[in-house]
Amino acid sequence: MPIYEFTCDKCGETFEELVLGGRIEGIKCPKCGSTEVKKLMSACAFKSGGKFVSSSGGSACAGCAGGTCSTCGR
Ligand SMILES: [Zn+2]
Repeated sequence: MPIYEFTCDKCGETFEELVLGGRIEGIKCPKCGSTEVKKLMSACAFKSGGKFVSSSGGSACAGCAGGTCSTCGR
């Protein structure tokens, strides 16, 4: 299932959404309802240790950059 993680530009909320066909239009922040959300390329930052690791566009796991990651299983 193509589930991606997003972060909200407005309130900083992070959430997961099912994305079909890579279309992220219409994805809304569940907290504030803003559509100004960014798709996070790396899921590893959120999976490792179960803690949110703030990053400014950088990826914590090099394997995640291409969409598949042997480290986090995606
Ligand atoms: Zn928000």
